[in-house]
Amino acid sequence: MVTGFATRAIHGPASLRDPKGSLRTPVYDSAAFEHESAEALRLTFAGNKAAHVYSRISNPTVHDFEQRLGLLSGGIGVLAVSSGMAAISNTILVLAGAGTNIVASRHMFGNTLSLFERTLRPWGLEVKYVSMDDPAALAGAIDPETRAVFIETMSNPQLEVPDCRKISAITRGHGVPLILDNTLLTPYLFNSGDSGVDIEILSSTKYISGGGTSVGGVIIDNGNFDWRQAPRLRERAETLGRMALIAALRQEVYRNVGACLSPHNAYLQSLGLETMSLRIDKSCANALATAEYLENHPLVKRVNYPGLASSPYHELAGSQFGGGYGGVLTFDLESNGQCFAFCDALQLIRRATNINDNKTLIIHPASTLFAEYSDEEKVDLGLRPTMLRLSAGIEDLPDLIGDLDEGFKALA
Ligand SMILES: *Cc1c(COP(=O)(O)O)cnc(C)c1O
Repeated sequence: MVTGFATRAIHGPASLRDPKGSLRTPVYDSAAFEHESAEALRLTFAGNKAAHVYSRISNPTVHDFEQRLGLLSGGIGVLAVSSGMAAISNTILVLAGAGTNIVASRHMFGNTLSLFERTLRPWGLEVKYVSMDDPAALAGAIDPETRAVFIETMSNPQLEVPDCRKISAITRGHGVPLILDNTLLTPYLFNSGDSGVDIEILSSTKYISGGGTSVGGVIIDNGNFDWRQAPRLRERAETLGRMALIAALRQEVYRNVGACLSPHNAYLQSLGLETMSLRIDKSCANALATAEYLENHPLVKRVNYPGLASSPYHELAGSQFGGGYGGVLTFDLESNGQCFAFCDALQLIRRATNINDNKTLIIHPASTLFAEYSDEEKVDLGLRPTMLRLSAGIEDLPDLIGDLDEGFKALA
């Protein structure tokens, strides 16, 4: 019985052996799949025979990637999609609709906030914001029209950590599904199903792809929620039971929206998955050592990283994530100008927006990722113009510290 994370990531389920003996599932670059008879095709379309028909709905290489993630996460169903944002939008679309609402924290990934505010709100979805540090406010915000509560394991760039067990106790009590964006920690550092999360979302662009090779996203049903309690899924749940969410996505929302993962990207991400645990360990170690170095630097005004004892989330993150604190940290310099000068002086660390790449990346969030928000909104979002975000890669630590030293020399 194989239980280790890395072993499972590398070998996948035994059922995934390739018929031609290839040790790696090939890229099935085909839009459509043929069937031996008209009857076989009829049965497949009727949902009575498991087979691939068309790659917008399912594909063997993508299926392999989904099965691997199922084995790693313990979820009962996995759907891979074209991006992290596709995972979030498909999930909201399958659960909620005009005249209903979802509850979320305003401190979240910038494009998710923009999806809720600028794309879904005009379609009639209400989004209520509460602080996830305040369980009473969360309980008060849930009403009969609430279709989901949406949280992130670690908000970015604020790096706030919600207590998932406390929050899931509230959502469960109200019969509302809890959606968690676990991109920054992944199932390697945090098994969300054990903490009562119902749906886990991942941007597989980040840690999973490994090296930022490709964009992708994942929706995982942890099997904790009875979908008969979700109004849009009730009918399906009567016949399909626990598989109602994934079925509703595959037969309707995901199929109709069309944000499918390309087989080539699924291949790259399956490859990345195999080395993910090694890369996360190294990235977390680099992030912690870098945060400690920055905290002791006289030109740094503050450092925010849950791995530091100075973080208000240090204890909770430690117990919730089993010792890893992720690869993202922020730090503040004296001024906006100093932030720009610092970034421009770096030789090794790259100026780019991604996170959890193999390369260490730096960005000034207020002028880039959150540029669409007003100055007042930025204050509300905790986006100081003096703040830089660093995503630790997997390089050798002395080289990273050496490069940061160069950055500080430019400020002297
Ligand atoms: C990057 C990211 C997303 C969006 O993922 P894409 O693959 O870029 O669409 C969503 N949530 C978090 C926390 C992210 O870091």
